[in-house]
Amino acid sequence: MRIGIIGGGPAGMMCAIKAGENHEVVLFEKNEKLGKKLFITGKGRCNLTNYTDEKDFMKNLVRNPSFMFSSIYSFSPFTAYYYFEDLGLPLKVERGNRVFPASDKSSDVIRAYEKKLRQVGVEVRLNTEVTSIKKDGETFILNGQEKFDKVVIASGGISYKLTGSTGDGYKFGKEFGHKIIDPKPGLIGINLSNNFDLAGLSLKNVELRVEKDKKIISREFGEMLFTHRGISGPIVLTTSSKINRLNDFELYLDLKPALSKEKLDSRILRDFEDNQNKNIENVMRNLLPRDLISYVLDSAKISGDKKINQITKEEREELVKTIKNFKLIFASLDDIDRAIVTSGGIDVKDIDPKTMESKLIEGLYFIGEVMDLDGLTGGFNIQIANSTGYS
Ligand code: FAD
Repeated sequence: MRIGIIGGGPAGMMCAIKAGENHEVVLFEKNEKLGKKLFITGKGRCNLTNYTDEKDFMKNLVRNPSFMFSSIYSFSPFTAYYYFEDLGLPLKVERGNRVFPASDKSSDVIRAYEKKLRQVGVEVRLNTEVTSIKKDGETFILNGQEKFDKVVIASGGISYKLTGSTGDGYKFGKEFGHKIIDPKPGLIGINLSNNFDLAGLSLKNVELRVEKDKKIISREFGEMLFTHRGISGPIVLTTSSKINRLNDFELYLDLKPALSKEKLDSRILRDFEDNQNKNIENVMRNLLPRDLISYVLDSAKISGDKKINQITKEEREELVKTIKNFKLIFASLDDIDRAIVTSGGIDVKDIDPKTMESKLIEGLYFIGEVMDLDGLTGGFNIQIANSTGYS
């Protein structure tokens, strides 16, 4: 059997390796090298997977986790770990079970795939863009000339287009009657309309909360930072993936999530008692990052030069409320081209989760990020690519 695979990212490479053991495989990659996106993952270190079990893996998927059930059990994160070590790639596990190559070099991960591709005899065609897929009877014809019995689309999503992921798979999918779930940016910064001048300020141990109709939609605790456009950092990226299909919601920052309102109030009272004649702006330095104080006081409608002994009980209550519910005004998610992952893509309802074969077109397969699947940060997206590629 002759199989054509479109896209030399982790999904396409893994699939080519597996299929290459028993079939004649051609892997098409439009770039001059394989794994261009993989190269920039994990800030050049490649967070290859997460050293965790299948159940925990599923909790870190955003769209269609149940679709992954079968493929994650056939190629689990633990399997991936030992698979790559067996390929001669020593790995290490860091905070949050994140798995990286021991060398800290994503190029070593790409080299491991390449070595195995050579071993199983896959024909890799670089600088070769697939521009058309036609089906004539049982046969697929790529670029009007090459014939294949099966075709696998592993062309990735539509973010970081310079790496080659330009959404070609959506076009091919559509031509074969597949539904495309509107692609949205996932794991991306959030742009704000607040008039902040806080770029570079990073916050630890804060909680970013999303509310819609007074209900809490998402609540993420940890680190974030202010950018020129708004906010970014771990809890912001996670939040972005959860709200990218949501309208009319509100964003709040709890600047002291470890303290209840009552505890925060007692803490502020204590600070106030010790500093009766000082300006509130100065006293707040015990509690909040200096750059943030004027914004919090403005929001609580308290003048920064007011002396502590003039602060009313109502003002103090308003201050507590503001620190627990510091309002961020959502403008938009940052541009999809800067998204770590694309949420949306080929609707998985029309794909067999065991084999990744199209339910509409026999012999046509979709794997990796081109499908409507995305995970959180921590190595989950490359694992999706590898598990679906292996299936
Ligand atoms: P891709 O890696 O996008 O590969 C698709 C390939 O198909 C590309 O090489 C493209 O050139 C090729 N192609 C497309 N169309 C055609 C065509 N018509 N003809 C021929 N070739 C074609 N995930 C993690 O798990 N851990 C991380 O540390 C991590 N860090 C990231 C950091 C950044 C900055 C970014 C942008 C993403 C990161 N991700 C990370 C996400 C991860 O890189 C992707 O989810 C993963 O690469 C998807 O794999 P894929 O094989 O499906 O698609």
